[in-house]
Amino acid sequence: MKDTLRPEYGERPLNPRREPLHELISTILSQRTTHADEEAAYHELRELGDWDAIIAAPVEHVAYAIRRSNYPDSKAPRIQQTLAALRDSPSGYDLEFLRDLPVKDALKWLTDLPGVGIKTASLVLLFNYARPVFPVDTHVHRITTRVGAIPKMGEQAAHRALLKVLPPDPPFLYELHVNLLRHGQRVCSWVAPKCGVCVLRERCDAYAIYDGKVPSWRA
Ligand code: SF4
Repeated sequence: MKDTLRPEYGERPLNPRREPLHELISTILSQRTTHADEEAAYHELRELGDWDAIIAAPVEHVAYAIRRSNYPDSKAPRIQQTLAALRDSPSGYDLEFLRDLPVKDALKWLTDLPGVGIKTASLVLLFNYARPVFPVDTHVHRITTRVGAIPKMGEQAAHRALLKVLPPDPPFLYELHVNLLRHGQRVCSWVAPKCGVCVLRERCDAYAIYDGKVPSWRA
């Protein structure tokens, strides 16, 4: 699947795009939010001051700062709780120790933080530390289910299931993740998948079952 998507969306070298804590907080902000709005929300959040100042700020101020992100009222306290847990941890705001921690332990450490789920933890570990994990967002989940790489299951279980069928190769996992996301945005949408122009159609279970007219259904 990775090699089929590459001619469409390009090669994707695995280079950290931002600091680990930036990645962690931005991933919380990105839920149900466009990339532009996520970036705007992060930028305005950082204008409140350093991480200590963001924790100490009234929650309404944090919610206002991140208003370009969807659900700011629920994300603001989550972000403050996540940051406070980091501040109070032995390593503080420095996540560098995750680079050498066994993957299982690193995932557990991150998902034990309030407001951090398996997708956010996987994104930080793969994007920042090139660890062999596979973040499953809504696009990755929908496409891998439709093509039949995994049976129908929730996103959380899909993280484990996909890791069992994919090679533990971080550059491979990164490129596949990013290009599946692009494919979900441009071709295999939830509402109206463009199966007629899809490069994955020859290997897609849903395409075969629905004879090229895949209905809109949630994977
Ligand atoms: Fe999605 Fe259709 Fe492509 Fe299958 S053939 S991956 S359902 S766009």
